[in-house]
Amino acid sequence: MAGLWTGKRTTGVVTNSALAPGTVRAHVLAVGLSALLAAAAYALRPVFGHSVYLLGAPVLLACAWFGGPLSAALATALLAAAGLWLDTFTGLPLAERIGRAAVFVITGLAVTAGARVVFAQRRAAAELIADQAEREALLQAGLEIVADALVLTDEGGVIQSFSESAERVFGWTAAEVVGTSFSRLMPPGEDAALTGDGDDPDGSTRQLTGRRRTGETFPMEVRVGAVRSGGRRLFTIVVRDLTSVQAAERRNEELRAQLAHVWSAHSMGEMAQVLAHELNQPLSAVANYLRAARNMIAKMELRNDDLVDAVSRAGDQAVRAGEIIRTLRDLATRGGALQKPESLGAIIREVDFIIALMARDAHARVVYDLHKGDDVVIADRIQIQQLIVNLARNAIEAIAKYPRRQLNISTHVDSRNQILTTVEDSGPGIDPSVVDRLFQPLASTKPEGMGLGLSISSAIVENHRGRIWVEPSRLGGAAFCFVLARAGADDELSGRADGVRRR
Ligand code: ADP
Repeated sequence: MAGLWTGKRTTGVVTNSALAPGTVRAHVLAVGLSALLAAAAYALRPVFGHSVYLLGAPVLLACAWFGGPLSAALATALLAAAGLWLDTFTGLPLAERIGRAAVFVITGLAVTAGARVVFAQRRAAAELIADQAEREALLQAGLEIVADALVLTDEGGVIQSFSESAERVFGWTAAEVVGTSFSRLMPPGEDAALTGDGDDPDGSTRQLTGRRRTGETFPMEVRVGAVRSGGRRLFTIVVRDLTSVQAAERRNEELRAQLAHVWSAHSMGEMAQVLAHELNQPLSAVANYLRAARNMIAKMELRNDDLVDAVSRAGDQAVRAGEIIRTLRDLATRGGALQKPESLGAIIREVDFIIALMARDAHARVVYDLHKGDDVVIADRIQIQQLIVNLARNAIEAIAKYPRRQLNISTHVDSRNQILTTVEDSGPGIDPSVVDRLFQPLASTKPEGMGLGLSISSAIVENHRGRIWVEPSRLGGAAFCFVLARAGADDELSGRADGVRRR
């Protein structure tokens, strides 16, 4: 209503500011009206006689209503003077005329005072509305630039407002959905999930399924907050379209699966090489002994003991070859994706055979320093073995060309009661060109390196809610360290492990 007087657009009414209260125009109009009335009263004085002041009443009220207190005061003064003069024609005694004029002035002053109060209220209301309009405009401008959709509903779920981003997400225009139920933005039945089991949705965040105008459904995160407005309880519903987030997560998972596949194919290939190399020795020994046995038999110059010895040595070597095959096959197939309490030392000792083979080829020395007490962690044995073999292989490759070739593998309990495993070497340390992206796929300085080993290693540690990093080793090369929570301390540590930054 105040917009009527300010000329501002408020509740949709555009008003005329020509007669705004307190303006010169309003006062001129008050004076003009009063003069007009005085002239009319003069002309009609025989008709009105003693009631001349009554004529002034509507003018006075009109001036007060449209022109404000000053106009009313001006009109009072003018009309009182005119009335006093016009009364001379009625033949009343002077004292009585002054009395009538005084009553008119008092009434006029009362109207003026009333006008003041009314106008003060109107101005305050106008300012309030202008203020609100400004805030609404600011809020609206803010809401339009955020990517999340914002929908305002009443307690019954009826949409009160629908932001531009909501229009983009759902495909409906505000005009189409305001006044209808929020449930039309979800597939049938899903709205029950929004209100939960009758709990107050205020402050809740839920992952639900949304429905666009086209009927297409999509995953969305819905945050609900309650607000009070004009005695009503409203809900602001912030909707985040998770379509792209989930697609990215899916892609990430696919990439990881691909990486894991490539890596395991890669490491199986390496195992096959080791296997071929290792089996070569016992099998050629078997062949030699059997050839010797055949020669002895052919020449029949045998002494019984020699034949038995040759054949039993051949048998021993065949058993050794079989053991090598069994160990490798066992390593590749036992265990699985299940994490369960395992001794870290035992896990490492099961692969020392492979590490020894790799180290022997590189003429490297391997030193173990494994924690002797309780070292039980919740782990997938095969995954942790892949991790250790991978770190050891990298270390051995790094030291291969250096005169001092040492690899240390140690475990101990750190200050946070976690098990810290360190695989460190006397090599050159990490090349600065890869140090920043060491744990990312395809970071490699080797001519035929795939740059996948450390990326998979970090994924394995992450799977175990642990942390992996690299630091300079006291042996001169790189020290790869990772921590795993001890089996008993899992709950206590999970919060910390999740919060740490992986390098
Ligand atoms: P790849 O061995 O196929 O290159 P990795 O992920 O196993 O992939 O390793 C990435 C890179 O990290 C290696 O190319 C190498 O430059 C560096 N690196 C890894 N371990 C060591 C180490 N112990 N000493 C020095 N550099 C290392």
